[in-house]
Amino acid sequence: MELQFLGTGAGMPSKQRNTSALVLKLLQERGTFWLFDCGEATQHQMLHTTLKPRKLEKIFITHMHGDHIFGLPGLLGSRSFLDGKEPLTIYGPSGIKEWVLTTLRLSRTYLQYTVDFVEIEEGIIFEDDQFVVEAKLLDHVIPCFGFRVEQKPLPPMLLIEKALQLGVPKGPLLAKLKKGENVLLENGQTVFSQDVTSQSSKGFSLSILGDTRFCPTSIELSKGVDIVIHEATFDAGTEVLAQPYGHSTITQAALVAKESKAKHLIVQHISARFLPSQAEELQKQGLLVFPSVTVAEDFAEYELKHNNLERINKKRD
Ligand SMILES: [Zn+2]
Ligand SMILES: [Zn+2]
Repeated sequence: MELQFLGTGAGMPSKQRNTSALVLKLLQERGTFWLFDCGEATQHQMLHTTLKPRKLEKIFITHMHGDHIFGLPGLLGSRSFLDGKEPLTIYGPSGIKEWVLTTLRLSRTYLQYTVDFVEIEEGIIFEDDQFVVEAKLLDHVIPCFGFRVEQKPLPPMLLIEKALQLGVPKGPLLAKLKKGENVLLENGQTVFSQDVTSQSSKGFSLSILGDTRFCPTSIELSKGVDIVIHEATFDAGTEVLAQPYGHSTITQAALVAKESKAKHLIVQHISARFLPSQAEELQKQGLLVFPSVTVAEDFAEYELKHNNLERINKKRD
């Protein structure tokens, strides 16, 4: 799993920060990526990355504000031009389906793939054998969701060399061992699955929270996650200012990470009032509350490795 931020600004684009869009790369896990929010020009941002729109499998929209959805129609159209044929699912608040379909219809944009819409309510909104995604309403000026993405435990791996050493022939017996079954060899010896498989390992978990005031739901969604991704539209000490706009300060974002006992915090939705050089100051304010704070910038890509959060691409000039 890798995370790549395509837009980390609040409200309007600036030269340094485009509006919200976050990619969860699941290329190893399922050969696709998921997108969380799609601010205007998200497809332009994608052009500066290795992401291919046809590999986009799911889009999750936190809320209907323009800085989170205005990039959708263009991206959907280009995905079609670029030969995207696989169906795509869009999860979002009530109104998302009408907005997208109306825009596509009036602009006579025809897609050569199916778009499925899931207008979400609180609860589990997606689950398969690999992942479960839960949504809850946060506290913004219009209905806005936060998401918890959890990867299910990874199945045990077969230690092939060990099995072969114990005399298991190549073929179907290996598959049985992998599934957890013990097997009887021709020489009468039993090989136990647990002797030739690794333990199943824990998957990763994230909370990706939309625009919000500081609220208990953010903490609930983030309980014990590896990474909390939270907005920080305001800096420390401006809580009174943030409140009426339905936003949070860096200090409040750090409190969510602390209270939920998460491992790392990445903040985004940064106001254009802050110059790039002030990102360090924001980070320092967060670090007073929580030990692992990263202020995301556009295009930054991160990987979670042995519990450490590592930036894996170079800073752009
Ligand atoms: Zn916003
Ligand atoms: Zn908003």
